Amino acid sequence: TFNALVVREAEEGNPKSAAAAIEQLSDADLPTYGDSDVTVDIDYSSLNYKDGMALTGKGRIIRSFPMVPGIDFSGTVSASDSDRFAVGDEVILTGWAVGERYWGGYSQRQRVKSDWLVKRPSGLSSEQAMGIGTAGLTAMLCVLGLEDGGVQSGDGPIVVTGAAGGVGSTAVAILAHLGYEVTAVTGRPEQQDYLRGLGASSFLTRAEMSEEPKPLESETWAGAVDTVGSTMLAKVLAQTKHSGVVTACGLAGGVDLPTTVMPFILRNVRLQGIDSVMAPIEARDAAWARLATDLPADQLAAMTEVVPMSEIIEQGPKIMAGQVRGRVVVDPNH
Ligand code: NAP
Repeated sequence: TFNALVVREAEEGNPKSAAAAIEQLSDADLPTYGDSDVTVDIDYSSLNYKDGMALTGKGRIIRSFPMVPGIDFSGTVSASDSDRFAVGDEVILTGWAVGERYWGGYSQRQRVKSDWLVKRPSGLSSEQAMGIGTAGLTAMLCVLGLEDGGVQSGDGPIVVTGAAGGVGSTAVAILAHLGYEVTAVTGRPEQQDYLRGLGASSFLTRAEMSEEPKPLESETWAGAVDTVGSTMLAKVLAQTKHSGVVTACGLAGGVDLPTTVMPFILRNVRLQGIDSVMAPIEARDAAWARLATDLPADQLAAMTEVVPMSEIIEQGPKIMAGQVRGRVVVDPNH
């Protein structure tokens, strides 16, 4: 048997009655999804914003009950009917609606589709892989989006919103390592020293970046990584330089976007959407390879905290309240 965190509805068909508890399961309890052909012994999972939503019942993240949450994990293949993976392979899973529609990483063991897995790059330990996790992969996809749009380190500052969060912290560290000048937007002034340590050189408050923007404001940013959405994303767009690139990956501040077309038609600004959940395997492999080289290990360690699985239930409300700094790694084996 093994331990897993299971969310069950007390009253069937009523998601509001759902509650999470650690249970002992056996392999026979693991669901099979048609062609779920690989079993993974999980070393680590992590806490992402979406996991916070799942744990607190917000946004209907969990699509079927009972559910084992955890939208990512790293571990070792313990059984395989796949040609691509053999027993002993070290793998990473992020996204694909795992932890939402399919059982996820808050477990010592999980059975998944081999199509969902990538091989863990040799430069990263299993713990580092989940220190990065979905949030870090998304941050790297944003950086690759900036590069794809031609943004170079000499072009001017990059603004990162929600900077002290998981995606934000990782983006700050990668961009600074690549030589970009990074401005961090945070609602937590007490985290400025932390963000300076990751490589941010200047700061703006959440309040000043949440003021309603004019259609165009003075040209400031060569690029942006936005995890917040809503008015803050509109503000960033209005301040982006001619031909700059804004990557939008998050909704921590809201799902609306009260902007105008002016940044697009007068400044050639590119708004690049970023989705890590359904990203193709080739894009994932490329991003993980870059994460192994472009995110310094000491910076990753500085933004990562490891908690036992028993503590994850109380972490859910914290990430929803914007109180988690950097990344939380979940250890299901302790
Ligand atoms: P997180 O650790 O909670 O980071 C979010 C940060 O946003 C917070 O730490 C906070 O930073 C800021 N924030 C929180 N509430 C806010 C508000 N009301 N207004 C303005 N800023 C606020 O979460 P995460 O895991 O990094 O995820 C960040 C966002 O990216 C989430 O919306 C998540 O759903 C999204 N995401 C998307 C993808 C994708 O594939 N598109 C993948 C991963 C995550 P400060 O305290 O520094 O202000």
